Amino acid sequence: MSILSRPEFHDEQAAYDYVESKIWPNGPVCPKCGEKERTTKMQGKSTRIGTYKCRACRKPFTVKVGTIFESSHVKMHLWLQAIYLMCASKKGVSSNQLHRTLGVTLKTAWFMSHRIREAMRNDSLGDFGSGGGTVEVDETYIGHDQTIKPKHEKKGRGFHHKYKVLSLIDRNTGRAKSMVVDKVNAKTLIPLVNENVAKEAVIYTDEAAAYKSMYKHHKHDFVSHGAGEYGRGEIHTNTIEGYFSIFKRGMKGVYQHCGKRNLHRYLAEYDYRYNYRVKNGFSDTERTDIALLGAVGKRLTYQRPNQEVN
Ligand SMILES: [Zn+2]
Repeated sequence: MSILSRPEFHDEQAAYDYVESKIWPNGPVCPKCGEKERTTKMQGKSTRIGTYKCRACRKPFTVKVGTIFESSHVKMHLWLQAIYLMCASKKGVSSNQLHRTLGVTLKTAWFMSHRIREAMRNDSLGDFGSGGGTVEVDETYIGHDQTIKPKHEKKGRGFHHKYKVLSLIDRNTGRAKSMVVDKVNAKTLIPLVNENVAKEAVIYTDEAAAYKSMYKHHKHDFVSHGAGEYGRGEIHTNTIEGYFSIFKRGMKGVYQHCGKRNLHRYLAEYDYRYNYRVKNGFSDTERTDIALLGAVGKRLTYQRPNQEVN
């Protein structure tokens, strides 16, 4: 049976039941006062699906309150389809694709996909390399930063025009964490690494100047790509380079027009799928369910889409 034929992807009541079972595993919780016992499911004909009434504070509520779904008119079963599609496709799904597949407007698809990226965002991965683990650190350049004006740039070397991304990968947990950076130098990168990597960790980078002073904070070794070296045994950055290639192919093929303002959200999306990938023991459905839990507490009100629709 196709996964997409499951009732929660088609039937609104089933969709609510599914989301409630994940977000409220022990039954409904009033978002206003925290009441767990004295809640009643509203069953009237004119009552909207998923409405409960809290008998403690007398306010009605649904599972959408305080989540990325709040104040959205999109049907819950379409949200579930969108989350599943974004979680299950390795390189992501463009807003245009969501718009065509779900039958919502392009603008709605754009909002949905950014909210889902927010649900995927996980700021509490903890220190990388804790317990003396190994962390690969590398930076990459992608896209085209329209906000930077050309100065004395040599043709063909567009690094200054590209967005700069720093990523860390914990080899033991197989997890990635990525961030947008303004500059690729020691002053910018070292504090970010120190903030996210445990003191006892061992760090491997390439020979870039930005990492030269890393040894002052962490056990550090590097490979000299310039000298044609790919690595010496354990000392390599091949894991992170593999990760960058997924990310770059996706950003090029699916999200061509990403602006700097939203780049961190795309990074969160790629990190998320990587962290919950099959190799780390997660199925497509589990990856979707964890994103559903991430929808809680991420109520969003942000800027309108403009030219940046992808
Ligand atoms: Zn209440």
